[in-house]
Amino acid sequence: NADAQKLPQVRKSAKLANVCYDIRGPVLTRAKQMEDEGHKIIKLNIGNLAAFGFDAPEEIQMDMIRNLPNSAGYSDSKGIFAARKAVMHYTQQKHIKGVTIEDIYIGNGVSELIVMAMNALLNAGDEVLVPAPDYPLWTAAVSLSGGRPVHYLCDEASGWLPDLDDMRSRITPNTRAIVVINPNNPTGAVYPDEVLKGIVDLAREFGLILYADEVYDKVLYDGVKHTSMAALSEDVLTIIFNGLSKNYRSCGYRAGWMVVCGDKRHAQDYIEGLNMLASMRLCANVPGQYAIQTALGGYQSIDDLVVEGGRMRRQRDLAYELITAIPGVSCVKPQATLYMFPKLDPKMYPIEDDQAFIAELLEQERVLLVQGTGFNWPHPDHFRLVFLPHEGDLRDAIGRLARFLESYRKR
Ligand code: PLP
Repeated sequence: NADAQKLPQVRKSAKLANVCYDIRGPVLTRAKQMEDEGHKIIKLNIGNLAAFGFDAPEEIQMDMIRNLPNSAGYSDSKGIFAARKAVMHYTQQKHIKGVTIEDIYIGNGVSELIVMAMNALLNAGDEVLVPAPDYPLWTAAVSLSGGRPVHYLCDEASGWLPDLDDMRSRITPNTRAIVVINPNNPTGAVYPDEVLKGIVDLAREFGLILYADEVYDKVLYDGVKHTSMAALSEDVLTIIFNGLSKNYRSCGYRAGWMVVCGDKRHAQDYIEGLNMLASMRLCANVPGQYAIQTALGGYQSIDDLVVEGGRMRRQRDLAYELITAIPGVSCVKPQATLYMFPKLDPKMYPIEDDQAFIAELLEQERVLLVQGTGFNWPHPDHFRLVFLPHEGDLRDAIGRLARFLESYRKR
């Protein structure tokens, strides 16, 4: 070690100074170390469906296998025709007008396209409105692209809906875009049309681009309906993101898409930038692209999981019931997704550093959660829970959390 310190140090770039992705942060590293030591950890930290027995539809797997011999070459940078055509049909089903094949980009999951969309847009000093709490890749991608993420509030008291007054108050001459995550990770909220229309109106008034991450648009409970942001206007430039990872339990196939919707006449230069970035990475994983047409056109087996009695819905209900029974823990019941974002009453749990709190829970009870500040929530009083483990593990994990919190109260 002393020798190593004498060597000139290899430093990460300054671009990464404000980039943070805590879902796979230091607490996860410690959890992996504990697993290597032989401990069993119950993981309520990552929305990786297949890892919890929510298998990808067999039809998709079979089609990918069948197409494997045709998938060895690069495809068109924006994606294979069949996949883009299927996405085009999907936008029609979602009542989005005027989408052509050329408006559709297939990527290695939504993640790659989020980074691409921000990289193509932002110059130093440009601001992007991102929700708090958020799925932290959005904040990280804005920072990595040289922009400045500015967080608008989603209000827990109103079921985690975006606070439009707060959003408006944060718009400056440097604001370029608004990010909306609907259905929302980490809160599980689904936004009503009036709220979405309010956001469209703001974008129109200030000439902003809308980026709508809709990757959970089929993971809906209680009969709630999802409206795509792009269905609500034909004039505002709106870029929507979706993919197979969640709706089709296929996150390992890395198949996602982005659709440029609305009036594009004034955005040709930006679109040229997107095309260039798509070309630079040659193409998305081709076997994954072959899964898209089958997934979108086939039997929608997600519906069986989210209806009353379906496994996801049962687990959501169980997790909600057990979490809200813990003294000082409250939670808005998620209407969608795989997540809930409970609050710890700060009077009962005066937490100063929520990452340390989550690390302590891991050491003491072998349960892994993610701290709320990891989702750019400004106070150390929330955490995100993934309700994917089977009911037995969920009961066990939340029981251990309850025991940990009881010991915390007695300190
Ligand atoms: N957007 C949201 C809101 C997510 O929760 C996730 C993954 O958890 C992603 C995007 C990334 O999805 P993909 O697997 O398509 O990269």
